[in-house]
Amino acid sequence: LWDYAQRFGRFYKFEAVIKTMVDGVLENWPVAASYIRRAVGERWQPEFHGAPGNFEEASLRLMPRLVYEKFVRPYSEKQWGIPARGLSASLAGRFDVREDDEPRLMRHRHQGIPVSGYADWTTRMLSGIPVILNFDFLRRREEISYRRKLIFTGPVDEYFTYDLGKLAYRGQRREHVYQPEVDRALAVPQVNNPDPANGPHIRTIEWKQMMPPEYASRIRGTVTTQETPFTPEHPDGYEYPFPDAVNTKLYQAYRSKLPADGKILVCGRLGEYRYYDMDQAIARAMHLASELLND
Ligand SMILES: Cc1cc2nc3c(=O)[nH]c(=O)nc-3n(C[C@H](O)[C@H](O)[C@H](O)COP(=O)(O)OP(=O)(O)OC[C@H]3O[C@@H](n4cnc5c(N)ncnc54)[C@H](O)[C@@H]3O)c2cc1C
Repeated sequence: LWDYAQRFGRFYKFEAVIKTMVDGVLENWPVAASYIRRAVGERWQPEFHGAPGNFEEASLRLMPRLVYEKFVRPYSEKQWGIPARGLSASLAGRFDVREDDEPRLMRHRHQGIPVSGYADWTTRMLSGIPVILNFDFLRRREEISYRRKLIFTGPVDEYFTYDLGKLAYRGQRREHVYQPEVDRALAVPQVNNPDPANGPHIRTIEWKQMMPPEYASRIRGTVTTQETPFTPEHPDGYEYPFPDAVNTKLYQAYRSKLPADGKILVCGRLGEYRYYDMDQAIARAMHLASELLND
């Protein structure tokens, strides 16, 4: 994947570090075992043992309740807008407790951002491939005829004009603030804000900290963005497939409506109704492409 990505442009090293504001102090996210020892004691135990039936139980298999209540439950309830017990256990697979206090969000060997930006990188990837922009396939289906396969990467329920009902998604409203006199606003590129008492936003991001230092140092001031989750009505706002049992079942019902001959492929984050990180989305696309090309 790394070799493939580099065919379309150079990457600079960027290893995301996230902190969570807890009791007025910036703590590591994912949670450091040293924090748990400080907060609960040396001989801490996870709260829950056994097979988890929901997100809360899956999280409590990793940590004591006090830590869950500070870092995980309020953050997740802001993000999804429902009690954490209503979310799927699999969602807890997105984090762990760091026995070694590793502060990086990801442990991947290669972590980076294209030097010339994602738009340029993607444009190079598409070189030689005809591209039509600003074309809503679902409203203009009759204008597209395909020879072997049709690949659709939009929402699977919208593809079927919602005839089994609407899948739920969450999105985020973004409020950008430019501070011309501040060189650096945050201690790290992203600060999570689980505590509702500190405002409805879920996190704040400082873009400058994701840029190559030599580029960032030439920028006057800084831009931060506060993200606040909401439930979007329009598909353009769909960002996160909803991780609960009702929607998983509805998604499966939509999938079973796809023709068995495999000529229509509905895939990607919205098509497969799965939260993919970028590397996972690209690896999935490469996997599907190699299957198609060998077909
Ligand atoms: C807020 C947020 C932050 C994220 N941060 C990170 C991060 O830090 N690191 C990371 O690795 N990943 C991150 N991701 C995940 C990353 O964005 C996804 O993994 C990636 O975009 C998935 O690619 P995709 O091709 O599956 O879907 P998408 O990027 O959603 O692409 C689907 C495409 O289909 C098009 N489409 C939809 N409907 C139609 C239609 N009717 N007609 C024509 N075209 C249509 C859309 O316009 C879009 O271009 C983040 C995602 C979100 C929402």
